[in-house]
Amino acid sequence: MADLNMYPNLMKRLQIARPPATTVLSPQPKPEVPKAQVAGDTLEVQSGVSHPVNKPSVISMPSPNFGSRPGGASDISAIVLHHTASGSVSAAQNIGRYFQNPDAEVSAHYTIGKDGAIVQSVQDGKRAWHAGESTFQGRGDVNDYSLGIEIVNAGDNRDAYTDAQYSALIDLCAWMVKTYNVPLERITGHRDICIPKGRKTDPSDNFDWDRVKKGVTARLAGQMPASAPSVDPDDRAGDNLAKGTSGPRVKQLQADLRTLGYFTYKEDTGTFADITHASVKKFQSEHGLDVDGVVGPKTSAAIAGALKNKSGSPSTAAAAKSSYTVVSGDTLFAIARRLLGDGTRWREIYSLNQDILKDPNKIFPGQTLKLP
Ligand SMILES: [Zn+2]
Repeated sequence: MADLNMYPNLMKRLQIARPPATTVLSPQPKPEVPKAQVAGDTLEVQSGVSHPVNKPSVISMPSPNFGSRPGGASDISAIVLHHTASGSVSAAQNIGRYFQNPDAEVSAHYTIGKDGAIVQSVQDGKRAWHAGESTFQGRGDVNDYSLGIEIVNAGDNRDAYTDAQYSALIDLCAWMVKTYNVPLERITGHRDICIPKGRKTDPSDNFDWDRVKKGVTARLAGQMPASAPSVDPDDRAGDNLAKGTSGPRVKQLQADLRTLGYFTYKEDTGTFADITHASVKKFQSEHGLDVDGVVGPKTSAAIAGALKNKSGSPSTAAAAKSSYTVVSGDTLFAIARRLLGDGTRWREIYSLNQDILKDPNKIFPGQTLKLP
């Protein structure tokens, strides 16, 4: 972590417990990592099978704590890993909220929670405030040219980094290495670049560097699938459904509005035209929403909520949405956002359907998924 110690009152307000500074911990033996978990060691490489390296899904929590990079985004040439030293916190969102406080005057580009969720606080092209006084391979001010990743961990050499964190970190680093051409040797730790030496100890001794570097290498070689759904650029671009849009998401919208009694056209056409527009507006006016006929996050969430309410009442139990059939263009993230009102709940769908899903990035039209 950059400098949480400098803000004891803030940390107190945020109720982030920290180990007392005077605690002396005896070094713990490094736990043996079971072989099967060491990516790259034991993977069977199937020829012809290559897993794409995309940016993993992130939860966006923009922080005001950043500046511009003197050398611009093309100067990005290092990745700095940190632990948060936040003992009682497990969710990346808590750290993301902390970084949103301008008084904190710290930030990192990304934070990885215990569950593997990734929060993005600062855009890659901007200079985050995570490294402080620092130098790396002869060049100072590491914030200028690095991407900072915080890993939620107590930092006491005992709190284990979770499998989900390693997987998310490997996905994220592999994508960064590929996107910004960062050599693997330039993934480093805060402890290794801080000035003076010894000022920082993160990431802690029990962090498994070997696992990360082997994992990133395997990901880049296409030998290892991503652990989480990647950002689907089409899905992002098409966040809002409005008049003139078309496709499987519109078709699903029509089916949902039909279930709720707002869409009565003879079929779900997948084309958002006047009738769908009128249906959406009617739904919005009856649910206290802005009546603009555009299906954005609020209207989506309201539709998901209405479907849930409807399925909860006994008289319409038959309409309960306990499963969903995948259509072309779907991603787990999009399904979770649409039907559960929160994209990050894709993990629940994934874990419910482990029997048919081997890779959360690979879902196929026609598959029927159980819903939580
Ligand atoms: Zn740090």
